[in-house]
Amino acid sequence: MANHISRRQFLTTLAITPIMASVGISEEPYTYSVKGKIAASALGKSLIHEHVLVDFIGAEKISPDRWKHDEVIRKVLPYLLEIKQRGIQTLIECTPAFIGRDVVLLKKLSEQSGLNILTNTGYYGASDNKYLPQWAFTETTEQLASRWIAEFEHGIEGTGIRPGFIKTGVNSGALSDLHQKLIRAAALTHLKTGLTICSHTGPALPAREEIEILKQSGVSPSAFVWVHASGSPEELESVGRSGCWISLDGVNADNIDKHVDLLTFLKNKSQLGRVLISHDAGWYRPGEPGGGEFRGFTTISDKLVPALKANSFTDADIRTLMVTNPAEAFAIGIRKS
Ligand SMILES: [Zn+2]
Repeated sequence: MANHISRRQFLTTLAITPIMASVGISEEPYTYSVKGKIAASALGKSLIHEHVLVDFIGAEKISPDRWKHDEVIRKVLPYLLEIKQRGIQTLIECTPAFIGRDVVLLKKLSEQSGLNILTNTGYYGASDNKYLPQWAFTETTEQLASRWIAEFEHGIEGTGIRPGFIKTGVNSGALSDLHQKLIRAAALTHLKTGLTICSHTGPALPAREEIEILKQSGVSPSAFVWVHASGSPEELESVGRSGCWISLDGVNADNIDKHVDLLTFLKNKSQLGRVLISHDAGWYRPGEPGGGEFRGFTTISDKLVPALKANSFTDADIRTLMVTNPAEAFAIGIRKS
């Protein structure tokens, strides 16, 4: 017994001693889910771009009384349980503030489904700024960044729930001054927090401009997820060569062959280690009867993975796409250019 206690005391002393840091014992990679800190290695099979609830009413009119947690949970929980059954462990929820982010709802769904759910900080400028709060137009880069950094340091809206990544959004053409500001604010937030930057982008042109702004701000492209990456296979490869993450997040039952071809192309170019896959599916729609039509999250497990395996993708390739890449892409860590 005495031995027991002294060993415990010894371990306790070790755990709090600052020597650990000074001898360079580094912590294993981690991020934050809505339930708190989580090792990146514990994320497991992940869907990196999905939505639980999206409200397109606009930043001016959005309010959490437009939906009721119990009703949303009744609708959404079965879709989460069906992916849990298929071995998915983590869902990365990409709905930004002012378009339906509700972190308490996400926490309830995480607790009830057993899935890890990650949420985000940042603003979505795509759709011509309809989802930007008024102050996004007038505040400086630094002021916007300080709002997002505060969400990371103190939690979102008084909940203590931290974002696991930054989510921004830009229009599909050349970046406006306003959207350049959003990306610079994301860069500042990254340099302070180490959060990965996911930006709703689409074509290669704005992706290249975003990556250029990040580099000028001192952020490595490896901290950037090119969301809704679209273009020719060669364009995807060429932007991917910057070191960013290529997010092929629009998988659905009608485009399995296209995704098999694209993933095969990228695999042959040794780029599989930079690719992320997801459905961009969901979601409960406030204002529509019963939350409207909901698209589930099972197509990758049920259709894409079998199709990839039938086209010489190995279990290790699938693991790269669904486990290793998400863990690396979303691990918190400052990545300088
Ligand atoms: Zn999306």
